[in-house]
Amino acid sequence: MDMNNIDNATTRRIAALQARVDTMKEHNYYFYNQPIEEILDGARVRVNGRIMGMYASYSYLGLVGHPRINEAAKKAVDQWGTGTNGVRTLAGTLTLHNELEETIANFKHTEAAITYTSGYVTNLTVISTLMGRGDYVFSDKINHASIVDGCLMSGAEFRRFRHNDMEHLEGLLKNAPADVAKLVIADSVFSMDGDIIDLPKIVEISKKYNAWLMIDEAHSVGVLGKKGTGIEEHFGIGDVIDIKMGTLSKTIPSVGGYVAAKKDMINYLRHGSRAYIFSAALPPAQAAAANEAFKVILDEPWRIERLNENTKQFIDGLKGMGFDTLLTETAIVPVLCVTDERAFELTKQCQERDVFVLPVVSPAVQEGMSRLRATVTAVHEPGEIERAMDVIYEAGKRMGMVK
Ligand SMILES: *Cc1c(COP(=O)(O)O)cnc(C)c1O
Repeated sequence: MDMNNIDNATTRRIAALQARVDTMKEHNYYFYNQPIEEILDGARVRVNGRIMGMYASYSYLGLVGHPRINEAAKKAVDQWGTGTNGVRTLAGTLTLHNELEETIANFKHTEAAITYTSGYVTNLTVISTLMGRGDYVFSDKINHASIVDGCLMSGAEFRRFRHNDMEHLEGLLKNAPADVAKLVIADSVFSMDGDIIDLPKIVEISKKYNAWLMIDEAHSVGVLGKKGTGIEEHFGIGDVIDIKMGTLSKTIPSVGGYVAAKKDMINYLRHGSRAYIFSAALPPAQAAAANEAFKVILDEPWRIERLNENTKQFIDGLKGMGFDTLLTETAIVPVLCVTDERAFELTKQCQERDVFVLPVVSPAVQEGMSRLRATVTAVHEPGEIERAMDVIYEAGKRMGMVK
């Protein structure tokens, strides 16, 4: 690499990454950053001129392109234009933002909510605002990267508990000083594995040790609970999570992130979190789209029913074929391949037959846990899912993964 001929650790890392990408491309194993040319509906896309079944989308309820949501976004552009040109604290707050935050608070059954411009930024800024040097954060080992980054940024003591292991968490809490501020954080649905946090237990333990509980609902809003309101509804327990974090970019077809919590907590974040104070507000179209999407979820419960049926068909089907789908109970379905090479090969064979899935390899997951990661949505037809599973099965069989 010729970068002014500088040879240091960073230039070597850049060269190593380039070599890894080049090798993948040589083997036709590079599937990232493929431009989608057209979204036909939530279930199908056009890529490289070919119509493919979409099994890598987080649009769990198929709301992207929903007429009511598109209409709300267009109306917002007509009324407010395309940007906010400033931070919320100064001139960036529109009535639209307040409306959205009220909608979210109602949807999540809390007193108040605050929005940010991405889920990633929400975790970063919220964790680092609430926690600081001398405090303790306790984070599940496979929590999302934005949680890990928020914990590191906070400067607090960072303790990681084994995945969904409540005994380990309790042990770590027991060992922490009694009088420090403590925060326990976990994903609701784990983004790479699709399994669900043991909410009743984590609530009980957090309370016992005077720790706040923060749950990231990126993959549970619109997915868990009969009405799709998330993990508390799934377990049939009321308002027990202190800090309910979520994104506006998955089931909600917009962009942004939020936290729903008690009024005092939200007020503190509104005046203390740097991503709110020093970064521009959500654009009007995105705020309006998100606001409408929460309402559509409540108005169209059939979507959640369909998602549940499709999820069951997909998981039961793949398991029945002999694949290891780990502990998933949701629309995120990992197909364990163990090695990177096998994950790439399985992906390649699926994509060649127009099933759009993607591989997840280290460091996104632990080494030896490389996988194909497939998702289903409410708008896939049972016949389409059947075909996708056949494609995965035939490829898996050729590769000797299943009989
Ligand atoms: C996607 C995701 C985020 C980040 O959300 P963005 O809005 O895409 O920035 C945070 N947490 C989890 C668990 C996620 O899956």
